[in-house]
Amino acid sequence: MKEYRGRVPDSIEELLKLKGVGRKTANLVVTRGYNKPGICVDTHVHRITNRWGYVKTKTPEGTEFALREKLPKRYWKEINGLLVAFGQGICRPQSPFCSRCSVSKYCKRVGVKRWR
Ligand code: SF4
Repeated sequence: MKEYRGRVPDSIEELLKLKGVGRKTANLVVTRGYNKPGICVDTHVHRITNRWGYVKTKTPEGTEFALREKLPKRYWKEINGLLVAFGQGICRPQSPFCSRCSVSKYCKRVGVKRWR
């Protein structure tokens, strides 16, 4: 409260100094709260972009940095909302619905052993 005068910081670096705030939350706050560039990578964004073969990373944090390098900035804010819905409905963690997937022809299905 004292250090930031009661105002939530608007930079990832400052947000990360707060207890309990990780990169996912920090990116979410700057993008949704302050309309600044950021990429909120949760389990869906991490899993799906790796399945596509668009990135090749081991952790969500690694995915965020890889996406910062190659994803055009105009998609940074919307990728989270789009892939959360897509990951809950189609590209499920276990046995995704590849037969109904509108982007299947672009997907390398990296690590996908079973699908419907
Ligand atoms: S083809 Fe399958 S693995 Fe690839 S994005 Fe679609 S649902 Fe996911």
